[in-house]
Amino acid sequence: MPIYEYECEKCNHITEALRPMAQADEPLICESCGNSKTQRRHSEFAAGASKGAARGEMPPMGGCGRCGDPNGPCGM
Ligand SMILES: [Zn+2]
Repeated sequence: MPIYEYECEKCNHITEALRPMAQADEPLICESCGNSKTQRRHSEFAAGASKGAARGEMPPMGGCGRCGDPNGPCGM
Protein backbone atom coordinates (compact mmCIF):
# COMPACT_ATOMS: atom_id res chain seq x y z
CA MET A 1 0.00 0.00 0.00
CA PRO A 2 1.52 3.34 -1.01
CA ILE A 3 2.18 6.19 1.37
CA TYR A 4 0.61 9.51 0.47
CA GLU A 5 1.47 12.92 1.82
CA TYR A 6 -1.10 15.61 2.42
CA GLU A 7 -0.14 19.21 2.96
CA CYS A 8 -2.39 21.32 5.15
CA GLU A 9 -3.60 24.53 3.50
CA LYS A 10 -3.59 26.32 6.85
CA CYS A 11 -0.42 25.34 8.62
CA ASN A 12 1.44 23.54 5.82
CA HIS A 13 1.97 20.56 8.05
CA ILE A 14 2.58 17.35 6.13
CA THR A 15 0.44 14.44 7.21
CA GLU A 16 1.42 11.05 5.90
CA ALA A 17 -1.20 8.39 5.32
CA LEU A 18 -0.98 4.79 4.30
CA ARG A 19 -4.05 4.13 2.23
CA PRO A 20 -5.25 2.28 -0.85
CA MET A 21 -4.84 3.97 -4.22
CA ALA A 22 -8.62 4.19 -4.52
CA GLN A 23 -8.67 6.58 -1.57
CA ALA A 24 -5.65 8.60 -2.61
CA ASP A 25 -7.68 11.66 -3.59
CA GLU A 26 -9.90 11.67 -0.56
CA PRO A 27 -9.19 14.53 1.83
CA LEU A 28 -7.31 13.88 5.00
CA ILE A 29 -7.61 15.71 8.29
CA CYS A 30 -4.44 17.58 9.24
CA GLU A 31 -2.98 15.84 12.23
CA SER A 32 -1.50 19.09 13.47
CA CYS A 33 -4.39 21.56 13.46
CA GLY A 34 -7.40 19.46 12.51
CA ASN A 35 -8.06 21.33 9.29
CA SER A 36 -9.85 19.21 6.69
CA LYS A 37 -8.46 21.07 3.68
CA THR A 38 -5.32 19.27 2.69
CA GLN A 39 -3.66 18.92 -0.67
CA ARG A 40 -2.20 15.61 -1.69
CA ARG A 41 1.41 15.97 -2.67
CA HIS A 42 2.71 13.98 -5.57
CA SER A 43 4.96 11.37 -4.14
CA GLU A 44 7.63 9.78 -6.27
CA PHE A 45 5.80 6.51 -6.10
CA ALA A 46 2.59 7.80 -7.63
CA ALA A 47 4.31 9.96 -10.23
CA GLY A 48 6.56 7.19 -11.47
CA ALA A 49 3.85 4.59 -11.64
CA SER A 50 1.21 6.48 -13.57
CA LYS A 51 2.82 9.30 -15.50
CA GLY A 52 5.79 7.73 -17.27
CA ALA A 53 3.90 6.64 -20.36
CA ALA A 54 1.72 9.74 -20.55
CA ARG A 55 4.75 12.02 -20.74
CA GLY A 56 5.88 10.35 -23.96
CA GLU A 57 9.27 9.37 -22.70
CA MET A 58 11.86 8.27 -25.21
CA PRO A 59 11.84 4.55 -25.96
CA PRO A 60 14.93 2.50 -25.14
CA MET A 61 17.80 2.68 -27.60
CA GLY A 62 17.23 0.46 -30.62
CA GLY A 63 13.54 0.08 -29.99
CA CYS A 64 10.74 1.15 -32.24
CA GLY A 65 9.72 4.72 -31.51
CA ARG A 66 6.21 4.10 -32.75
CA CYS A 67 5.08 0.93 -31.05
CA GLY A 68 7.77 0.51 -28.40
CA ASP A 69 8.89 -2.87 -29.71
CA PRO A 70 12.36 -3.45 -28.25
CA ASN A 71 13.35 -5.50 -31.30
CA GLY A 72 13.53 -2.43 -33.54
CA PRO A 73 11.43 -0.32 -35.88
CA CYS A 74 8.20 -1.99 -36.87
CA GLY A 75 8.47 -0.72 -40.45
CA MET A 76 5.47 1.55 -40.55
ZN1 LIG B 1 -2.88 22.01 9.68
